[in-house]
Amino acid sequence: MNRADFIWMDGHLAPWSEAQVHPMSHSMHYGTAFFEGVRAYDTPTGPVVFRHCDHMQRLKDSAKIYRFTIPYTVDELMAATRQVLNANNLRSAYIRPLAYMGEVGMGVVPQHMEMSVLVAAFAWGRYLGASALEEGVDACVSSWNRAAPNTFPTGAKAAGNYLSSLLIATEARRNGFHEGIGLDARGQVSEGAGENIFLVKNGVLYTPPATASILPGITRDTIVTLARAEGIEVVEGAIAREALYVADEIFFTGTAAEVTPVRSIDRCPVGDGKRGPVTELMQQRFFGLFNGETEDKWGWLDSVEAK
Ligand code: PMP
Repeated sequence: MNRADFIWMDGHLAPWSEAQVHPMSHSMHYGTAFFEGVRAYDTPTGPVVFRHCDHMQRLKDSAKIYRFTIPYTVDELMAATRQVLNANNLRSAYIRPLAYMGEVGMGVVPQHMEMSVLVAAFAWGRYLGASALEEGVDACVSSWNRAAPNTFPTGAKAAGNYLSSLLIATEARRNGFHEGIGLDARGQVSEGAGENIFLVKNGVLYTPPATASILPGITRDTIVTLARAEGIEVVEGAIAREALYVADEIFFTGTAAEVTPVRSIDRCPVGDGKRGPVTELMQQRFFGLFNGETEDKWGWLDSVEAK
């Protein structure tokens, strides 16, 4: 299935069905790839890429943590996204930049540390289901913990980290939940398999800190910023598992999941089991960035056309 016509691969547009990576690629064998999930939205003033620069900077930072280099500047990576969106006639899209190691020998330490890069873009709807944004999702606490801080750095968005996400999400779905939540090595709340998590209690917003084995999400940062702009107090601090069961509201954030309410945890309703008012306000402010209702005071919208 062709999800789009072209993929940007190291400076060239490859037809989707012909794009290839060698089977002996280091990344295939050892998980040495870094990636981003980015979204483009079609706004009243034209298509934009949301927090484009921040995503490409995180891609470069992820590689740097492992001492790999990405041979493109942030500006060059952003230009690649625009090129692939335009080539595929996409006004809204999910964008997947990926830095990987090709055929560089079988040693775990590659012969050189310079990565290949591709940028794909395609239409992708609601990650956790069409009704999720209004009705919320059912989540569980996973029996799998997130990686301890001194094992795999979760601040790097590395392909290999997603084996942890896979364990958590697969267990959840096999047991009838939409999504699973990992605890960190100390047993405190970390994040969803592919989302950060927020709790609302007595009007205050709580989210685990960067030290809780999370990926410090760009949507998470967006919500913290938008909430503070509304005068809502936001606390980034350790969250005990039991706080999940007595929260007034819970929601997930992520590029794919956007802002998704959680209506139950381990079959225990969150609040009255419906999307709560703070969650709804945060959704309005977040999606307002793309329908023109929320002023972009932060320069988060990168126009696809005006370059
Ligand atoms: N945590 C994990 C494990 C994720 O995969 C994602 C999605 N990239 C997030 C959090 C949310 O990050 P962001 O808001 O930057 O998409």
